[in-house]
Amino acid sequence: MARILVTGGAGYIGSHCSRMLLERGDDVVVLDDLSTGHAESVACELVVGDIRDEVVVRKTLARGFDGVIHFAAKALVGESVSSPALYADVNVRGTELLARCAAGTGVRAFVFSSSCSIYGTPKTTPVDEDAPKAPESPYGESKWAAEQVLAGADVPSACLRYFNAAGAHPDGSLGESHDPETHLIPLALDAVMGRRPPLKLFGRDYPTPDGTCVRDYIHVQDLARAHLRALDMLLGGHPGGAWNLGTGRGTSVLELIHAVERVTGRAVPYEDAPRRTGDPAAVWARVDRAEHDLGWRAQHTAIDAVVEDAWRWAQARRF
Ligand code: UDP
Repeated sequence: MARILVTGGAGYIGSHCSRMLLERGDDVVVLDDLSTGHAESVACELVVGDIRDEVVVRKTLARGFDGVIHFAAKALVGESVSSPALYADVNVRGTELLARCAAGTGVRAFVFSSSCSIYGTPKTTPVDEDAPKAPESPYGESKWAAEQVLAGADVPSACLRYFNAAGAHPDGSLGESHDPETHLIPLALDAVMGRRPPLKLFGRDYPTPDGTCVRDYIHVQDLARAHLRALDMLLGGHPGGAWNLGTGRGTSVLELIHAVERVTGRAVPYEDAPRRTGDPAAVWARVDRAEHDLGWRAQHTAIDAVVEDAWRWAQARRF
């Protein structure tokens, strides 16, 4: 049994990861300021606090942890464009402070929530970990800067670069709940249920087979499992590194809409809209490195299975 501090453990991916750690018997404490997370999704001790508050961070870490999994971050691309200083402060300075404080307390593993947005528009797909880093938003820049901070920190770190996190816990008890919601799958499901206006399909004139953007939708349970693998590897003495987490397969927006229609048995109300600024045409992951080093590969590779879990959550969500 390990003692693990999970920052941002009340959020979408952090809550699934915390649950998985608890299920295997680890001792978990969540540190979350609840600015976007939900206390209802935390099944262990919750310390309500900001990762930029050195007093809270030091006091929490002083209780003794083997590892830190760091999800707490600002994660809206559009907001990062209007408030870049906030993204630098929370995502970069916050990560630096947390890693610096953790290093002096016996923490032997630091797992970091990074993002494929650090690659910007990749020149080739699938995109591998050595592809040029060309983030196109302050959000992506902040994740890349935080990775570089961790590369120089005094604690071994694993930077996990997520592609498009999707799905929900199969038992329907946890799932995606953002305000504002900007992600395709929850928006499409809400449109099906009449909770929102018709989905806007952002661009049909991309250089892709059907003209719509292609993304790599990775199930949140697969992401959570990868964090456990990375954590265990670092605790076992691995020096750390960076890994892509995706399925290795792309799905277009139209294919996704069709999957939602198959799963729900209803038509998705949608309308064509102009391209959304900053959306690359096609991004999907090369995942060989995670397979080789972490012994991990996505299990939920069928897009319908991912949408089924998201649909179960969308119908019964409690928060
Ligand atoms: N998308 C869309 N309508 C929406 C939201 C998203 O057409 O209301 C498209 C978006 O252009 C992108 C894909 O869906 O190609 C996934 O977008 P999302 O915001 O879920 O994730 P991103 O890839 O931007 O991180």
